[in-house]
Amino acid sequence: MTPRTIYVDNNATTAVAPEVVEAMQPFFKGEYFNPSSMYERARGTNDALEQARRTVARSIGASDPGQILFTSCATESNNTAILGAIRANPGRRHIITSSVEHPSVHEIAKDLERQGFEITYVPVDNQGRIDVRSFIRSLRADTLLVSIMHANNETGVIFPIEQLSRLTKETDPSILFHTDATQSVGKLEIQLDGRFKHVDLLSFSGHKVHAPKGVGALFIRKGARIRPFMLGGHQENGRRGGTENVPYIVGLARACELAADNLEAEVTTVQRLRDRLEKELQVLIPHVQVNGDGAARLPNTLNISIHYIEGEGMLYQLDAHGICASSGSACTSGSLEPSHVLRAMNVPFTAVHGSVRFSFSRYNTEADVDKILEVFPGIVENLRKLSPYWDVKAASPRPDAPKA
Ligand code: PMP
Repeated sequence: MTPRTIYVDNNATTAVAPEVVEAMQPFFKGEYFNPSSMYERARGTNDALEQARRTVARSIGASDPGQILFTSCATESNNTAILGAIRANPGRRHIITSSVEHPSVHEIAKDLERQGFEITYVPVDNQGRIDVRSFIRSLRADTLLVSIMHANNETGVIFPIEQLSRLTKETDPSILFHTDATQSVGKLEIQLDGRFKHVDLLSFSGHKVHAPKGVGALFIRKGARIRPFMLGGHQENGRRGGTENVPYIVGLARACELAADNLEAEVTTVQRLRDRLEKELQVLIPHVQVNGDGAARLPNTLNISIHYIEGEGMLYQLDAHGICASSGSACTSGSLEPSHVLRAMNVPFTAVHGSVRFSFSRYNTEADVDKILEVFPGIVENLRKLSPYWDVKAASPRPDAPKA
């Protein structure tokens, strides 16, 4: 019998909410018009697009909906923010980012470095917290842009964006401040007219908040100097060529509305599940560490390292029980590359390879946690039996095992 699916990989993507599917339906059926067309029938489609813009703006505490640009994903939003800022400000060539960004920022930074831009990668400590002093020291007269994520996708560690953006503007108001909020939208309150008033650009994606894959948004503060990234027609007020994906944009708006309206209840639910799993796994399994547990973290994310075994082995075994989780390692061209995030945190060798991420959503239940607690300790025990670093008889690491 196929086991019941236990989906605890919500930082990778989320299930589309039934309310979102319902909101999108009319725009696949009768209301398929191009929102830029002149005839009366297209006006309804255009109205829906503009209503979605208002809803999305409101959900992140921005009063002016004209500041929302719809994109295809957070990767596009990040590219638009960073490359658009560079195109608009050719005089400056220094960019500040962190050492733990998502590849959709990190890879741009590396590419810009190859093109001769100077990039400062602000380090994090062993809990994944950003080094604020080093951030302050990195601000320079020729700094064009800061791009620092709000919450980390692997560990859930939250960065003090309010403080970092304020420090940036106090140093030089013309430095643009961008944050990738893909993991925080829908999980943390975002107030762009309030606490985040110094943030110029904020990216996020639909599929992390129970909207479909293939839609995202970029908040661009009025007056922020950025040039279009996607050249083409005059859609999105001349800021992005390409006919808007109205059904998905309507879905994104409904998802943002649901998340904002139920934020407190949802945070309570996911945090209760996460905290229980975190606490009980540490009791049931010896030699584990919770990555980032000393830092402020997203309420839904648990990144736990099980010393002396490989993350991939655990994932395969969890999968056999219908449990969908993910690891901090990425399999690159046949070799197992440990996560750049955990490496930046100086997570010890024996733990960097044995990390598993569980990330919850509103659809998880206590029964999901029960199942993980039931099967995971046995999986770990069996894999440790195969580990060259583990002494089965003593049920502890061998004396020659690398230091945890
Ligand atoms: N930034 C972060 C922090 C993410 O977690 C992700 C998705 N894993 C992205 C950007 C990219 O999102 P998308 O898939 O919508 O391009």
